[in-house]
Amino acid sequence: MSQLAANCPNCGAPIAFRWSGAVQTTCEYCRAILVRRDVNLEKVGQVGDFPHEVSPIQIGTEGAYGNKAFQVVGRILYEYEDGGWNEWHVIFQDGTSGWLSDAQLEYTISFQSPLPEALPPENEIARARRFVWNGIAYQVTSVTRAHYRGVAGELPFEYWDKRDVVFADLRTADARFGTIDYSQEPPLLFLGMAVEFDDLHLKNLRQLEAAAGSSAPKVSGLNCPGCGAPLTLSAAGHSVSVVCPQCHSILDARDPNLQVLQKFESKQLLQPAIPLGSRGKLRGDDYELIGFQVRTTDAEDIPDSWAEYLLLNRYKGFRYLTEYNGHWNFVKTVPANPDRTKLGKKSAAKLVGRTYVLYDSELATTTYVLGEFPWRAHVGDKSGVEDYIAGSQMLSCEITEAETIWSLGDYTPGAEIWKAFQLPGHAPAPSGIFGNQPAPFVGEARSMWRTAMNLLSAIILIAIVFYVFASQQTVFQQQYSYSPRAGAEASFVTPPFEVKGHPSNVEISIRTDLRNNWAYFNLALINEATGQGYDFGREVSYYTSGGETEGGRNDRAIVPSVEPGNYYLRVEPEMAANAQSMVYTLEIKRSVPSSGLFLLGAGILLIPPIFATWRAASFEQRRWSQSNFSGRA
Ligand SMILES: [Zn+2]
Ligand SMILES: [Zn+2]
Repeated sequence: MSQLAANCPNCGAPIAFRWSGAVQTTCEYCRAILVRRDVNLEKVGQVGDFPHEVSPIQIGTEGAYGNKAFQVVGRILYEYEDGGWNEWHVIFQDGTSGWLSDAQLEYTISFQSPLPEALPPENEIARARRFVWNGIAYQVTSVTRAHYRGVAGELPFEYWDKRDVVFADLRTADARFGTIDYSQEPPLLFLGMAVEFDDLHLKNLRQLEAAAGSSAPKVSGLNCPGCGAPLTLSAAGHSVSVVCPQCHSILDARDPNLQVLQKFESKQLLQPAIPLGSRGKLRGDDYELIGFQVRTTDAEDIPDSWAEYLLLNRYKGFRYLTEYNGHWNFVKTVPANPDRTKLGKKSAAKLVGRTYVLYDSELATTTYVLGEFPWRAHVGDKSGVEDYIAGSQMLSCEITEAETIWSLGDYTPGAEIWKAFQLPGHAPAPSGIFGNQPAPFVGEARSMWRTAMNLLSAIILIAIVFYVFASQQTVFQQQYSYSPRAGAEASFVTPPFEVKGHPSNVEISIRTDLRNNWAYFNLALINEATGQGYDFGREVSYYTSGGETEGGRNDRAIVPSVEPGNYYLRVEPEMAANAQSMVYTLEIKRSVPSSGLFLLGAGILLIPPIFATWRAASFEQRRWSQSNFSGRA
């Protein structure tokens, strides 16, 4: 039906269509906007000049969304107060069409979707409005009045005489994305996903000048209208404001005359730890430092400041490094609207299955700016900041009148940043404990418990083996009686007995018929051959009255490691002079299982992990003592 080649009715140049479904295209030679009318192409307008190109995508770029390959065939460019964005029209292999949006290097893929319900009119759509479509909760995160700036290539509809268009962007608690497009009535709905640059596997990209090496596409030859100092824009096309390093005027980076937006007086000249213009490789990607700002809170009238470094990778987008008292975080904005929830009694936020606990909430004021920003930088601007923590991650929410931005920070040792940007010297040691600083002792405690448990299992196993194989031979047993009133010499020796086998322990047990009385036994195990003896004393006492008992009638003692040989026992019982006589049995066994040593060993084993656990717990206590939610724990 549709022909794939034609000639431009304006200049005669050949027009080759990449997609047979195109309703509109542009001539690459004369830049006429051409619309299909029956079998003919009609010129309806002319493409104007495009601003400084910063999108790495161009017509002809190829990529993949999931396992579906696509090609970029068309483009609509919009501008709004804080910059511009491209809607790239993409055609998939199966002929379906979708949109790849590049808004300040944040990418989404979306598809026109049938309206699940009548959408509210343009003047009623507002931030925070919720919709539930197919069981998924969407929330309006921004409403933007955009200015249509131009088109190129093939589009699925006529689109060339637009002016201002209102868009409502929708986010979910995961990375789903939606847009309500009020360019026509009823509005159009597009649904899709936020995507990472790397996941799109793009080929045939525009060669950006700063792709590699040190030749940034700088725009120079500019002068500050405030003080006349020369200025260079290193992120032209992205930058919305730029700060004059001389006089601290904040200038409109998109205005060729660099109109002064604000002048700010600074009591001191702050020197960023990473100099502006530094280039470095962090987590595998190249970045250039283009902006620096200081933000200050004054909770309880004590000013407290942190620094934010703005990094740009011209393909993958903007990242931030934040620094507070030597603690660094590598931060990326999150294309989602996390659910606010509770974890126990604490407020929390849930993002893609992970729950982050509220750690801090404060009002932050921008107090110092340097370099370039893809937004209107303004000293004195205030925003609410909430920090939620989970492990080494910090999920932050920044709330201004215009928007709510979520970002995710990953705790990064200063040394890693010093290495990435090849900074001289060493990163200053951090002071205090930071919200998402990894607890240094938790891993240690965990591994200590693991080791202790392994050793303990081994000890128990050895104890069982000992118990099973202990021979427990009785080498002597004899009953005696003792009467303290006899007044005679109580001391005697037993007949000799043989302790056989290998050196082993020897247990001497005493069983008495004592009742409400005590007895003391002086004992000595003596080697008949050498005369060498093991001396020891045992007290046995047993009292009972009205069901309560104290002590016991029996006792035993273990002599460790006795050499084999012939032995006898010297016994000398003692009792109170007026006590009743007692009958007692002495039994001697060799090689008996003994749990005492094993228990002692197990106890010693458990000391290090218990100590490490205590240290980890006290680190957590100190972490939360710095939170302004510590009282609510
Ligand atoms: Zn032409
Ligand atoms: Zn100046």
